Amino acid sequence: MKLRIVKYGDPILTKKAEPVTEFNEELKQLVADMFETMYAAPGVGLAAPQVGISKRLFVMDCSSGKDPKQKIAFINPEILSTEGEQIGDEGCLSFPGIYIEVRRPKRVIARAFDVEGKQFTIDAMDLAARCIAHETDHLDGELFINHLSPLKKELIKARIKKLIKTGRW
Ligand SMILES: [Zn+2]
Repeated sequence: MKLRIVKYGDPILTKKAEPVTEFNEELKQLVADMFETMYAAPGVGLAAPQVGISKRLFVMDCSSGKDPKQKIAFINPEILSTEGEQIGDEGCLSFPGIYIEVRRPKRVIARAFDVEGKQFTIDAMDLAARCIAHETDHLDGELFINHLSPLKKELIKARIKKLIKTGRW
């Protein structure tokens, strides 16, 4: 089932999410629904708070459905280490139509649990590293606009406020 994506302005996006404690059917269904929602959007990453659920999990597929090995659910993820940096345009499904330049680590080593409750470690580069950093931020209530300078952040916020006012957000 496709879920509704929560947009910027909803307080759930700036809240720290709670760890997942039960690896049950409900969790599997949520993960399946989040993948469906992400592919339909379309996007390469989607965190639970973005569908209105304040839990520590996200889904990612940097191949956009082309490579089954890249379809990964991260439950209770932790970033263990990062290396280098990359600067590039980034979007967010909770900020439709907004793309901003964000500096992220070039390489991210992260640990998480899969839907069965089995722990795994992933060594990610480039887009996958960017995605893991972006989605893990969501679980701490951090949004990509927080990486902007205060002035640029205000400009984006003003743009969104205008869109909200005219009913286009
Ligand atoms: Zn996002």
